[in-house]
Amino acid sequence: MNKAVLEFSSRPVNVSFARVAVAAFASQLDFTLSDLEEIKVAVSEAVTNAIVHGYDSNPDCTVRLEIKVAEEFMEIEVIDHGKGIKDIPKAMEPAYSTNPERMGLGFSFMQSFMEKFNVSSSPGKGTRVKMSR
Ligand code: ATP
Ligand code: MG
Repeated sequence: MNKAVLEFSSRPVNVSFARVAVAAFASQLDFTLSDLEEIKVAVSEAVTNAIVHGYDSNPDCTVRLEIKVAEEFMEIEVIDHGKGIKDIPKAMEPAYSTNPERMGLGFSFMQSFMEKFNVSSSPGKGTRVKMSR
């Protein structure tokens, strides 16, 4: 199992850093370009959620990204120590958002683009999104 752990500031500019890091690590497996595009969308959505919801866009917090590659699959975890999610099933409903200006589709993309997908969260402690493909 090959692993990488990255920690970066909760700034929107780092969403692309996370995408590129995951894509670079994923090149160890034989994903197609369209697989990679989908994985990158899932990572962008999870990291954006950590920044805008977990940390309410405070740029001085830390997002953690853990990437693991085994023979046949890649596992990605996006972790924040922000405000957490009270009702996970509700948050995962398509088109549900606590921000009226957002679409509420991030979790739907993550679910449809990744094979396994799991969210754990404690209000006040933070959120961990684990997904693999
Ligand atoms: P979009 O992703 O389309 O911009 P959105 O972020 O609101 O909109 P989802 O990504 O599906 O939609 O997330 C749904 C809801 O879950 C969010 O509105 C937010 O309330 C909550 N949520 C998601 N991730 C986190 C997180 N890391 N910390 C706290 N709350 C979160
Ligand atoms: Mg989102």
